[in-house]
Amino acid sequence: MPRPGRLARAGLALLALLAAPVGAWEMATVLVAERVYALIGPLEGRTPENLALNANLGFIVTDAGVVLVDSGATAKSGPLIEQAVAAVTDQPIRWVVNLGSQDHRWLGNGYFAERGARLIALRRTVETQRTLAESHLAWLRETISDAVDGTVPMTAPEPLAGDRETLELGGTRMELLWLGDAHYRGDALLWLPESGVLFSGDLVFMDRMLGVWPYSPVRDWRDSFQAMTALAPKIIVPGHGTPGDLAKARRDTGDYLDWLVREVEASLANWEPIDETLERLARAPAFEHLEHFASWHRRNVHQTYLQLEAN
Ligand SMILES: [Zn+2]
Repeated sequence: MPRPGRLARAGLALLALLAAPVGAWEMATVLVAERVYALIGPLEGRTPENLALNANLGFIVTDAGVVLVDSGATAKSGPLIEQAVAAVTDQPIRWVVNLGSQDHRWLGNGYFAERGARLIALRRTVETQRTLAESHLAWLRETISDAVDGTVPMTAPEPLAGDRETLELGGTRMELLWLGDAHYRGDALLWLPESGVLFSGDLVFMDRMLGVWPYSPVRDWRDSFQAMTALAPKIIVPGHGTPGDLAKARRDTGDYLDWLVREVEASLANWEPIDETLERLARAPAFEHLEHFASWHRRNVHQTYLQLEAN
């Protein structure tokens, strides 16, 4: 869970912790630019207490209502997200924009749609959501038990066909972008050109080790990170971890993806067997400060090897 000390160390004058987590609700509200807020979840795994909200969401207050960036993993987290928004504005949540297809990005959609919010996502994102919905719900049921009760997968009814869609609400311009696949296929970004804030979804992890899954195309993810840097964001609200600048995103995500692909490509070029590769790459001093390094790094090398060997 982010604490004021960690936020201060991020060195960004604009970041202001508005509300520390209370009780079981573990998300902190952080102002990242005028009328732009991040909701920062804990870095730990999913638990019944955190309602699987071990990720970041966000919201933007406009003159015509609030844009919520991702909707949480369950129906039960809906009222808590609503309260966090109500703590800083009277405006209703008009739009919910989904940046990804992992549980905590969108399985809470139904709660907000029932209250009149419009669901917005790119077609690519929705395709992956539909593919993974049942398995993610089953996984949540195993992990957080009846905290998932009442959660019904609901995707945006009219997905946007393009890869660069400009949106505007209450005079605030936003761009919903797909720059290439990342943690999941179809992962998108929400870019606010006027304030220089980028909601990166799971394209960027900060403070904690990212996870390469079988459905995380690691070479594409590396390239998508590179494409993202062309936006030159002032502040990135990552999918997980404390918001920070591009240099921090590079240290915690971009450099690691570069390293993984480069080192594993070298292994394959030299016909190095997988067990020797895992041994040789067991240490990665530049990244060992990241939380969950011990439990994720070896898996990431293993998964990268399998993917690159197959391609
Ligand atoms: Zn995530």
